[in-house]
Amino acid sequence: MVTRRNLIKGAAAVPLLSTLGAPLLKAAERSSVIVVGGGLSGLYSALLLADAGLDVTVLEASQRIGGRVYTRDGVETRPEFGASQIGRTYARVINLCSRLDLKLIPEHRNLMPMSSYLEQNWVRSDQWADSPLNRMVGDERKMQPALVGSQLLSKFNPLQNLDDWLNPKFADYDVSILELMQRNNVSPAAIRLAGIGNDLYGSSALGLMQEKTRGLFDARFGNQEVEEIDRPYGFANRKLEGESLARINNIEGGCSRMPEAMAAALGDSVQTGKMVRAIDMSGDRAEVRCVDGSRYTADFVISALPFSVLRNVSIYPLLQGPQADAVHKIGYAGTTRAFGFIEEPYWEQDGFEPSFFTDGTIHMLWALEKRPDEDKHRFMVVFTEPAASRIDQFPKDQALALMESEIARIRPSTKGKLRFLDMYGWSNNTFIRGCRHMFKPGQINAFAREMIVPHERLHFAGEHTRRSDFGMESALESGERAAFEIIGRA
Ligand SMILES: Cc1cc2nc3c(=O)[nH]c(=O)nc-3n(C[C@H](O)[C@H](O)[C@H](O)COP(=O)(O)OP(=O)(O)OC[C@H]3O[C@@H](n4cnc5c(N)ncnc54)[C@H](O)[C@@H]3O)c2cc1C
Repeated sequence: MVTRRNLIKGAAAVPLLSTLGAPLLKAAERSSVIVVGGGLSGLYSALLLADAGLDVTVLEASQRIGGRVYTRDGVETRPEFGASQIGRTYARVINLCSRLDLKLIPEHRNLMPMSSYLEQNWVRSDQWADSPLNRMVGDERKMQPALVGSQLLSKFNPLQNLDDWLNPKFADYDVSILELMQRNNVSPAAIRLAGIGNDLYGSSALGLMQEKTRGLFDARFGNQEVEEIDRPYGFANRKLEGESLARINNIEGGCSRMPEAMAAALGDSVQTGKMVRAIDMSGDRAEVRCVDGSRYTADFVISALPFSVLRNVSIYPLLQGPQADAVHKIGYAGTTRAFGFIEEPYWEQDGFEPSFFTDGTIHMLWALEKRPDEDKHRFMVVFTEPAASRIDQFPKDQALALMESEIARIRPSTKGKLRFLDMYGWSNNTFIRGCRHMFKPGQINAFAREMIVPHERLHFAGEHTRRSDFGMESALESGERAAFEIIGRA
């Protein structure tokens, strides 16, 4: 019997297709479905379509498949530039790993306690509530500076179910985070702290509440003690006796092994170095044209591209109304991270905690607990918006040098003790242009429901088209939806 598992395993033996483009003037290649974009959502939809017996071609612009899943294999510690954390409620990801023989292992990325450097002053987390630097009021004072934005969003989040964010009942929350905070009489000092690392004016509170609700669902899943959910700076990742998965898991060997195994299972249906420039559905089949002159025709097309780059693809007939608005206007946010080793524990010298949060150039430095097999701590310097866009304006060498000198300036004990290995800024990935979609205020009401409706022969996948999940699981959720839409029509 041909089962889905057998199909995937059998196909895995097929070598990956050469990356050479089609010769000029070659006739258009035919298939049933063309998937544009070889990130998780595109690859997953292609696997499901292949399982259903459809002839599928995946066109990926980059020479690397996987998109926002990117294990930097050539660098010491093999940093994960993109996704890595797999929660225990990631049903599709967990199932896929099992089918592709990828092993899930507990994550070792436990964050060490965090001091803050605000207005040119240091303060430990255990002194923050009573510090004169803490100008928040009432109960707000208990929130650690790095967590103010996130904890206030949780506090005001009325959503209970995973798809509540699409329920018109909650339309009134599709406002900026700033407006939400002002409506709830948050103090100016708390708003100021929340604005470090959050685009208060440009992000929809409702969009972020969807993630909070999904995150809570993951945290509550299984046999975990509830108080751990609210521990500042997360929790120690644990695998309880009798449980098969830890709270947070990684893929052994790196997260990129997943898209690579998916592409191997699809064999020569996956073509890299194929940047799509046009999807023309004005004839009796869809024709997909690439910038290198190659052409492909199919009954159906799935766009698994972020809207940040789908807006550069010409689509005929033109998208209309809310869907056109969605493709051209939806917001994207960047994340930039630098990775390295801590050569000596600098915190023993100055008495502040190992990790820190700042209101300056360096957004956050995460010192990570030692892994069982390593004798040094690792660190990550983490920038979200607007700090991410700022640091991304520098070439990599300059950005790394700036980080090192600025960290040594504000915290002299670190001098010569941080060894940087590499960094990556997602806004600089020109095939994606950001770490993630981020609805602007009013955009959920304006187009979130309509933006995934198929247009002619074109269907939409990608994490930005999710309905109830987040992260990698949302990419698979969207790929599954798009594949089943087509299977229903084929
Ligand atoms: C820094 C970071 C950390 C993250 N951490 C986690 C985590 O720990 N856990 C988690 O679950 N999720 C995490 N995520 C989110 C997760 O990576 C994404 O949700 C998911 O990988 C998105 O998949 P996608 O298929 O929707 O898009 P993408 O991966 O962006 O795929 C889109 C693909 O389209 C290609 N493309 C673009 N233009 C064209 C064109 N014209 N023609 C052909 N191809 C084109 C791109 O090259 C890309 O490969 C993280 C993301 C980032 C950036």
